[in-house]
Amino acid sequence: MKHYDLIIIGGGILGTFHAYHALHMGLKVALIEQHSQPQSATVRNFGQVVPSGMNAVWQRLGRESLMYYKAIQEKFDISVRQNGTVYLASNNEEMTLLEELADINKSNDYASHMLTARQCLDRYEGLRADYCKGGLFFPEEITVEPRVAVYRLLQYLVEQHTLSYFPHTLISDIQPQGEHCVIAASDGRRFVSDKVIVCNGSEFKALYPQLFAESNLQAVKIQMLQTVPQPSQRLAGSILTGLTIRRYESFAECPSYQAIKAQEDPGSPARQWGVHILFKQAADGSVIIGDSHEYADAAHAEALGFDLNEDINRYMLEEAAKIFNLQHWQLQRSWYGIYSQCKGSEIFQHNVADNIHIVTGIGGKGMTGSAGFAKENINDIFRDSMHTVPHRNVSINNQS
Ligand SMILES: Cc1cc2nc3c(=O)[nH]c(=O)nc-3n(C[C@H](O)[C@H](O)[C@H](O)COP(=O)(O)OP(=O)(O)OC[C@H]3O[C@@H](n4cnc5c(N)ncnc54)[C@H](O)[C@@H]3O)c2cc1C
Repeated sequence: MKHYDLIIIGGGILGTFHAYHALHMGLKVALIEQHSQPQSATVRNFGQVVPSGMNAVWQRLGRESLMYYKAIQEKFDISVRQNGTVYLASNNEEMTLLEELADINKSNDYASHMLTARQCLDRYEGLRADYCKGGLFFPEEITVEPRVAVYRLLQYLVEQHTLSYFPHTLISDIQPQGEHCVIAASDGRRFVSDKVIVCNGSEFKALYPQLFAESNLQAVKIQMLQTVPQPSQRLAGSILTGLTIRRYESFAECPSYQAIKAQEDPGSPARQWGVHILFKQAADGSVIIGDSHEYADAAHAEALGFDLNEDINRYMLEEAAKIFNLQHWQLQRSWYGIYSQCKGSEIFQHNVADNIHIVTGIGGKGMTGSAGFAKENINDIFRDSMHTVPHRNVSINNQS
């Protein structure tokens, strides 16, 4: 059995960025994924990397993530495109929130600028003049193609950073043994490492089922739609609209947020299904539209069911059509994804033993915050043992 400094369980974006930072620290790392390729939240999302939507702590981590994504993209194509993020306001209240957020970001030294309605209409083809009152634009922000980004990132780590990658491998047991851990796969293979980080996403049953069932973790089901490619319509970057402005954490820091939220109709379909309307054009010209939010405690995640609720899809399409005139509304696919999140905290962290660390429940901010968060977490976990890896330190591309 090969002995690793670190084994990461889970090949989603959170596990993969933990591997990235551990490898850059010079550690001998293996990453284990139950499927032939990761196929959970990390490949089912929009691929919007939007620190502008996060609270102050996660905006900082998201801004660090931007740096890592861009640095990797310079060396290896992981599908990063820097087209910025726009928030579009549909009324004066939302415009006020945008102006307040612009002020907050000025004092945070994070680039953004207001757009007039005319500028939005010129920039975003098909945007409806009767919807848009103006916008706030964040030029530094990026998108990735969720259906390829993590696969390419893993490929990059395997080919250029000696990551040992074990797909098709479900881990069913982890046992501390003295200074080490013995990790058992369901097919009988065994792995040994000094430390283990479990980034299991919303898989609550394979490992530590009781711990997760008794935790404050939730599963969140999100519905998504994707049109056929638009023949010539081009929509750059991440496009977030009025309902998002009323939902994202960054806006909760704006002075007028509470008053605006208080006026909302709690019985509206948007509130009932947690719908806000976002658009992102994929590389093939199709437009991804979402999304909705339904919640269940980790112990009862199956209650979310496996059906797509057609009423939600219809509602999202109706709302989307109030914002954009797309050349084609025909759908090529719709799907749901599930991410885990933590009630009452930003992320779930639990140490099963001194050298077994669980990190999950990053919520709806995983594509945005994982790279920055994982850097800090790897530093924390290996702070005391850095002296044990004397020969393999390599520079971290001037990003630290
Ligand atoms: C529809 C949707 C849209 C979203 N849009 C965005 C967005 O635009 N921007 C953004 O920032 N975030 C977005 N998110 C959130 C983001 O996708 C998640 O936060 C992120 O993908 C979570 O990553 P993860 O690695 O924690 O979990 P996952 O992606 O669920 O990965 C966990 C991995 O662990 C593996 N695993 C679990 N247990 C085991 C085991 N015992 N053995 C082996 N392997 C195991 C699983 O197979 C899986 O591949 C969205 C999420 C969804 C669902």
